[in-house]
Amino acid sequence: MRLSRHFNLEEFTKSQAGERLGLDNTPGPVEIENLKRLCEDVLEVIRESLGPIYINSGYRGPTLNKAIGGAATSQHCKGEAADIEIPEVANADLARWIRKNCDYDQLILECYKKGQPTSGWVHVSYKATGNRKQALTAFMSNGKMLYKEGIDP
Ligand SMILES: [Zn+2]
Repeated sequence: MRLSRHFNLEEFTKSQAGERLGLDNTPGPVEIENLKRLCEDVLEVIRESLGPIYINSGYRGPTLNKAIGGAATSQHCKGEAADIEIPEVANADLARWIRKNCDYDQLILECYKKGQPTSGWVHVSYKATGNRKQALTAFMSNGKMLYKEGIDP
């Protein structure tokens, strides 16, 4: 199923963990509408300037989300978020570009290590209304994920 000009639903529902556990990760109509909005209003904008995007993780059904230890309130479960990378672009640069050029709800540069352009990934979410434009940097410290304001690895 096509979500927008350059994105297919399969890219957002594919999960190695889900396949290993034999889980059905099919979103409902509400989640599909949310994914379409994320694609049209955010991901297509990024792709047009920076090139093809790799979706590390998109939609996570409740069972898959629980299986991988995701937060119960995760926007991935609503079809509102994707973890993305662009092969030729450092993840820190990708996050900064999105912050400057896109509308978004939450933007998180996750697990990025300075000097390692391909480390980590970028989480971006988008809602129909009330987007917070919150930009954060997340990093692991002693086995715990910590967050700080801004895109600041
Ligand atoms: Zn994410």
